[in-house]
Amino acid sequence: MQQSFNYSDERFADLQLLRYRLNGFENLSTQKKTLVFYLAKATLAGRDITTDQFGKYNLRIRKALEAVYCAYKDFRDQDEFKSLEIYLKRVWFSNGIYHHYGCDKFAPKFSESFLYNEIQKLEPSMLPLRDGETRDEFCEEIFPVIFNPDVLPKRVNKDDGEDLIMTSACNFYEDVIQEEVETYYAGKKNALDTEPPSWGLNSKLIKRDGKIEEVIWKSNGLYNNAINVIVYWLRKAKTVVENNQQGKVIQLLIDYYCTGDLKLFDEYSIEWLNEQDGQIDFINGFIEVYGDPLGLKGSWEGIVEYKDMEATKRTQIICENAQWFEDNSPIDQHFRKPVVKGVTANVVCAAMLGGDEYPSTAIGINLPNADWIRARYGSKSVTIGNLTDAYNKESHNNGFKEEFVIDNATRSLIEHYGDLCDDLHTDLHECLGHGSGHLMPSVNPDALKAYGNTIEEARADLFGLYYIADPKIVELGLLPDNDAYKSQYYTYMMNGLVTQLTRIKLGNKIEEAHMRNRALIAKWVIEHSKGAVLMVKRNNKTYVLINNYNALRQLFATLLAEIQRIKSEGDFTAARQIVERYAVNVDTDLHREVIARYKHLDLAPFKGFINPWMKPVYGDDGKIIDIEIDYTESYSHQMLRYSNEYGLL
Ligand code: ZN
Repeated sequence: MQQSFNYSDERFADLQLLRYRLNGFENLSTQKKTLVFYLAKATLAGRDITTDQFGKYNLRIRKALEAVYCAYKDFRDQDEFKSLEIYLKRVWFSNGIYHHYGCDKFAPKFSESFLYNEIQKLEPSMLPLRDGETRDEFCEEIFPVIFNPDVLPKRVNKDDGEDLIMTSACNFYEDVIQEEVETYYAGKKNALDTEPPSWGLNSKLIKRDGKIEEVIWKSNGLYNNAINVIVYWLRKAKTVVENNQQGKVIQLLIDYYCTGDLKLFDEYSIEWLNEQDGQIDFINGFIEVYGDPLGLKGSWEGIVEYKDMEATKRTQIICENAQWFEDNSPIDQHFRKPVVKGVTANVVCAAMLGGDEYPSTAIGINLPNADWIRARYGSKSVTIGNLTDAYNKESHNNGFKEEFVIDNATRSLIEHYGDLCDDLHTDLHECLGHGSGHLMPSVNPDALKAYGNTIEEARADLFGLYYIADPKIVELGLLPDNDAYKSQYYTYMMNGLVTQLTRIKLGNKIEEAHMRNRALIAKWVIEHSKGAVLMVKRNNKTYVLINNYNALRQLFATLLAEIQRIKSEGDFTAARQIVERYAVNVDTDLHREVIARYKHLDLAPFKGFINPWMKPVYGDDGKIIDIEIDYTESYSHQMLRYSNEYGLL
């Protein structure tokens, strides 16, 4: 089973599709599996909501294209049909006709006449026509939206100086201008309210007959049909919860969907935050606001996940030994924390992705978003291990290591230990690194100003780098042997010195804090390494060569001590010097070389996931006795099946 699993699937346009594995799902109890299954149904039922939110014409376009796609009888390799197929696959991927990341409208590579002719061949009943609408009328309305690049060109426009509402194609507003929206919501706000609801999060703002009105997304409101099905599956889920708190959470969400009351959404969020004991968790609702240029409206999304007990065991071991790590860290003893508590990071497996989380998805979750809830109650944060794992596995065969790693021996080291070490380094960084050390009593936490983030990330990374090579790690069973860490040392140096440059445009400097921190560490180390680490040229290509891993560890220790000193003493001058000297600038010749080598690999810049197909197995009494997971469904089949099963709007 494990060996035959294919992490990467088809590729088209700028997209690579992957699959994720539900590790350990087979070991869950039937009740837990059933809970996952019901929540998964609720996750898929909102798909049309997201598509409609991302553009007024999206659903009509998708349905028409699907009808043409399924009915097409001629030679399917015909160029125009192939182009239509790719266009439709992109529409599925983006929940609409705009790029999921860049927000620009897709330019179709098939002709208007081709689509027109194919639509004419279809029975009107196969098309998403309104009452009395003819096929020609349909084409007249839809074609400019598909084919004219000037019509509704961008989903979310954030260009300063333009009316962001009028120039954005997202379907959150109708016949209102930006000023009206801002005035409307300013009127809702009450400066004295210490628990302000997220005004506007679950509604569309419409002007009718000169009057502005908020139409709520709820049962008996907008998106009624989809929301009722979500609620139906949530009610089923409530019958198989793991504990009372989960039942409370689900009931509050149902109440919120039925009433649209934002106070209930906040109540739900707080109870969701407090539910920590169950193995299964989910998100379902109008959550992130990136799809709205004004950041008010929540895009619908769903995800179901369960705790990965194996991976969480790893973070627990680290956490339990937090004091040992702190006491033995290579920093000045004055800067050590006398009593340290590690943070247990929950690692989860995604079981189903939906709405704005599908197929393109986040690999970590940190919610809720409301500032006042975060300040008073904190937030729940998880990393989604099986998605990261799929990204890692896919990258094993994409030629990247063959291009950038110096030799076969190092490459096989990385093949062998790379994923394990990456996970462990992340855990050490998150569970211990950020929480280690302390500031001198009089030091202002913001003393390092704009350099603070880079120094802080460097501190956490160095803590992880130092300890990943410690015999204690092998003793605790976190790595299998004393060579494993070398793969992390090599990839870290390679990334900091060479490969992370692929993510920067030629001519630009390094700006993002994590990238700066990696450059800082790698460049400082190589400059002080006296030959332990070198940059060498082979066949006109630049590689990192590590001659002495032991010496490298000592360099990490020395730098950690200095970075901790800068942080603990709030030494702004030293922070500025070290960041400006090592972390910002890029060698133009090297940058040009790296970008050319990367381009040659021809990798897809964006990735997304095909969901597993969950199939319930029923016993004689009609009850679910198992949920089978099928990983073989193709992307197109899945999308068409969803349009059929969950085509609710
Ligand atoms: Zn960090």
